[in-house]
Amino acid sequence: MLSEFELIARYFTRPLHAGSRVALGVGDDCALLAPSPGMQLAISTDMLVAGRHFFPDADPRQLGHKCLAVNLSDLAAMGAKPLAFTLAFSLPEANAEWLSAFACGLLALADRHGCELIGGDTTKGPLNICITVFGEVPLAQALRRDAAKPGDDIWISGSLGDARLALAGYRNETSLDAATFDAAARDIAGTRMHAPTPRVELGLALRGIAHAAIDISDGLIGDLGHILEKSNVGATIDADALPAGPMLAQQPQDLRRRFALAGGDDYELCFTAPASARDAVLAAARSASTAVTRVGVIDAGHNLQGHALRIVDAQGNPLSLDIHSFDHFTTS
Ligand code: ADP
Ligand code: MG
Repeated sequence: MLSEFELIARYFTRPLHAGSRVALGVGDDCALLAPSPGMQLAISTDMLVAGRHFFPDADPRQLGHKCLAVNLSDLAAMGAKPLAFTLAFSLPEANAEWLSAFACGLLALADRHGCELIGGDTTKGPLNICITVFGEVPLAQALRRDAAKPGDDIWISGSLGDARLALAGYRNETSLDAATFDAAARDIAGTRMHAPTPRVELGLALRGIAHAAIDISDGLIGDLGHILEKSNVGATIDADALPAGPMLAQQPQDLRRRFALAGGDDYELCFTAPASARDAVLAAARSASTAVTRVGVIDAGHNLQGHALRIVDAQGNPLSLDIHSFDHFTTS
């Protein structure tokens, strides 16, 4: 059986990159990080709990990837460049095979983004994984939730709803069209759920172009709602303009709308930008090799109940769908 310190040394300690902003990594009481001059540190933490955020028997390589991906997605949504991260976790046992696969998935994604593991904490207990990421963003250029302006276009990166579709498959939800959601489709949608792609390059390319941004983790409606609330604006979204994931696109219209609007686990960016910046947004998306779709507009209006989000169909007719986003304490 591996000891705590052998485990850290074997799986989670590596030489620092050349030119790294990390002055001291794993092995002391603290790590030391030196952001570039003129930059602000962007810091975010996400915790993943077995049985809540992932199945306890989840593939460890994909799990390693996903734990860091959801954190990098928060940096992307701020337009921040990843620098480093810490990993605090509790594990039921020190299983070498599991740890090796987990570290592999985790560190492969970290290397892709030049994000270094600089410390953490390791204890025995129910499987629970908490990562804190550190990034940097030039002063006053962070893409904040409170910066949307009336008249802004609303954009979405990539596609929505395939992760939610995968979950529907695991749960055998009856609304699925079984003919189109076959084994191959389940696999593709499952990958979307287990191995999301954080849109880091797009976030960086949108600095100085986008006004507000958020990453879509709990479903578009709820996450866009945070922008509306913080920016004190309303919005109109065309449900039929939403980019449904390739597997969801084959499902019936009602399911397409629901899962694209309130799916969860998408890790796409929702951002706003002035209409005058459309060409700049498209150029940024090309430079980041990430598709973007214009899905609505920010308006001034909001009602007394809160900040109005109007959802319309392709003809502009209002849709009243009884859907809401995921919330840990109100959603079962
Ligand atoms: P402390 O006694 O200060 O809590 P630990 O003995 O827990 O320190 O950890 C020793 C070193 O190993 C520290 O630098 C810590 O940041 C690092 N570390 C612990 N767990 C991990 C992990 N899972 N991944 C990376 N570094 C870790
Ligand atoms: Mg410790």
